[in-house]
This record gives sequence, C-alpha cells and structure tokens, in this order.
Amino acid sequence: MRFSSLLVHHPGAVDPVTGALSAPIYQASTFQQDDLENPPRFDYARSGNPTRQALEDTIAVLEGGCRGFAFSSGMAAISSVLAIFSAGDHLIVCEDSYGGTYRATSTIFPRFGFDVTYVDTTDLDAVRRAVRPTTKAIYFETPSNPLLKVTDIHGIVAIAHEHGAVAILDDTFLSPYLVRPLGMGVDIVVHSATKFIAGHTDVVAGLACVADEGLADRVYAIQNGFGAVLGPHDAWLVLRGLKTLKVRLDYQQRNATALARWLEARPEVRAVYYPGLATHVGHDLHASQSDGPGAVLSFRVTDGIAARAFLARLKMANVAVSLGGVETIVSYPVTMSHAAMPEPERARRGITDDLLRVSVGNEDLDDLEEDFAQALVASSTCPC
Ligand SMILES: *Cc1c(COP(=O)(O)O)cnc(C)c1O
Repeated sequence: MRFSSLLVHHPGAVDPVTGALSAPIYQASTFQQDDLENPPRFDYARSGNPTRQALEDTIAVLEGGCRGFAFSSGMAAISSVLAIFSAGDHLIVCEDSYGGTYRATSTIFPRFGFDVTYVDTTDLDAVRRAVRPTTKAIYFETPSNPLLKVTDIHGIVAIAHEHGAVAILDDTFLSPYLVRPLGMGVDIVVHSATKFIAGHTDVVAGLACVADEGLADRVYAIQNGFGAVLGPHDAWLVLRGLKTLKVRLDYQQRNATALARWLEARPEVRAVYYPGLATHVGHDLHASQSDGPGAVLSFRVTDGIAARAFLARLKMANVAVSLGGVETIVSYPVTMSHAAMPEPERARRGITDDLLRVSVGNEDLDDLEEDFAQALVASSTCPC
C-alpha cells in the first residue's frame, strides 16, 4: 500500500474480535493470565496496551522503521530517546531546537552528566568541528523554528555515522507524509504527535521510531522503565487524526504557499520565511530532501508595535502557541516559544519583536487573506 492508503488501512484498523472499522480503546491497566507458563502478549499496560500498540505499529509502518513507540507528549518522546545515553556522553543539538528540547538538554540532562553542545546544523563544517571522541548523537530539526532554516539530512547522517554516533531528527514540522528520515539513514525519528500527526488540537502525544532492533531494545527499556507512556484514549485520538494527515496537509500546504506569496507582495511585510518560496535560502535543499514545504511560515512586519497590533486585530485566525491543527494559529515567538531565551541570544538568531509565526490551517484561503489584510492595514494606522 502507498502512504495515503496506509493512513486509512493502518495496523489495527479493523478489530479482530468484532470487525469494527475503528481500533478499540482498551481502557485497561492489566490483563488476565490463565497460563503462567505462557504469559499473554499484554500483561500490564505500561509495558504494552493494544490500542497504543496499534499506534506504535502504525508509526513504524509509516516511517518504514523497525519499531514505533508512543509517549505521553512530544517532550516525553524526546527525553526518553535521549535517556538511552549515559553520563559522559556528548550530544550535538541544533541551536534552533524546540524550546522544550533546549530546556531539557540545557537544564535537566547536564545534571545527569550529559555534555551538550549547541550548533547551527545548517553549517555542516560547524557540526564537524563540534564532534568529540565522546559524541554519541547529533540531534536536529529541519526546517527549524521559527525561521524555517533547512539542514542537510544526508550531511548530518554522514557526519554522525563517520564517528559512530546516531542521528536523531525531530520531524514534527513535516510529519512522515513529507519526509521519511529513516530511509535517508537517520537512526531515530521523534515527533510531537500533538501537532500535524493528530492534527485537531485536542491531544498531547509523542512518537518515536527507530531504524534497528538494537535501538528498539534501548528505547523500549526507557519507555517501560521511565513509564512516560501514552494512554489508550489518547492513542486512539492520534490514530483517528492520522487517517486524514495527507488530505489536511495537502490543503494546508496549498494555503500556506498562497499565503506566503500574498504576504511577500504586501507593503507592510518586510520578509517571509517559507521553504516553499523560491526566495527562501533553504528552498532547493528542502525540495531535494522532502515531498513538500509544510504548512508553517513566519514573516516580519515593520516593528514590534505592528506585530502586536496584527495579533490584536486578527478576527478569525487564532493567537496561540502550538501548530499543525486544522485552524490557523499565529504565534509570537518573543513572548511564546522563545520567551525563555535571553534577549541578546534571540537577537543574534533573528528572533525579534517584529517576527510572527503562522501554522496555516484548513480555512478558506480568501477568509485568511481578508483576515490578514484587515489586521495588517489596521496595524499600520493604529498602534493599538
Ligand atoms: C511541540 C513540539 C515539541 C514538544 O511536543 P509536546 O507534545 O508539546 O511535548 C517538540 N518539538 C517540536 C518541533 C514541537 O513543535
């Protein structure tokens, strides 16, 4: 089956007991053991639950991986994957990483003896220079948040493997529909399934998928040992959302591409960052390693006053953190995703108060353009 068919006819999509065309929600913590010599497939729901298993088998099939794992959040997936490493191990982490990943790798993991170096992974020479004999992993995202900078996936994989390290990619922004990193040599892919994978702004969940059995055993030991597992009802919500991943993203990408071009032509907009624009620095590299530009873009208005006025004037698009849902969400990196970053560091990275990030949803494009137009027009005349 091809990708869109797999989304619908995923592992566990038909209940083997009743034939129901929806994976049953096994709301159970433990399972009857009739034969002590032959323990059942499921014995205790932290170790395994059939609904979670259906989701874990599904992400493994979609990613072309060896085994999938479902966690209670994207951060639980990321932290559990990083917990396969040990004190004294060195990790290279992209400097544009998700704020929660930055927090975990800068304040929590160092207390357990991890060495972490932040590197601009769009610069492969900088990555090479950061490698040490103790380097065990290169962890990165592409495109990055919020400036959509593009990292060369094959390049990172080559550096990691040359030094016996694993390449770990947070693929939340693209989902397995637009890129399948394991096929490019990445060893572990992680997702905040809260975003595009579940897609309806109604569940917090995380997924990981690994390339080989050795890594599967190491990640399973942490999943079962730390226990940050996804509950059966939330696993079902993710499976339900996944069925429409392709149709949602196809439509959102069309909206995002049109909106990015529309924004580029507006006099109130100083810059637009979107991998789908030919003017974007990473456009060609992104096109060579993915099947689409995704549905997240960012843009700059004249200044912080205009940006805040834009947010206040929006009538239909929501102002919030998060992304990847059916509704268009505009976020303000300086007070939201990057609030914890010191101001000089933000300025160095171009994350300034004139910058807005948009996750483009499934609304009618005309409504979106009308909403953005009235918000932009108002902001240039009314410093509210
Ligand atoms: C949201 C997000 C996360 C964290 O996921 P949660 O489900 O909120 O824990 C990690 N990485 C990226 C890129 C994200 O956007």
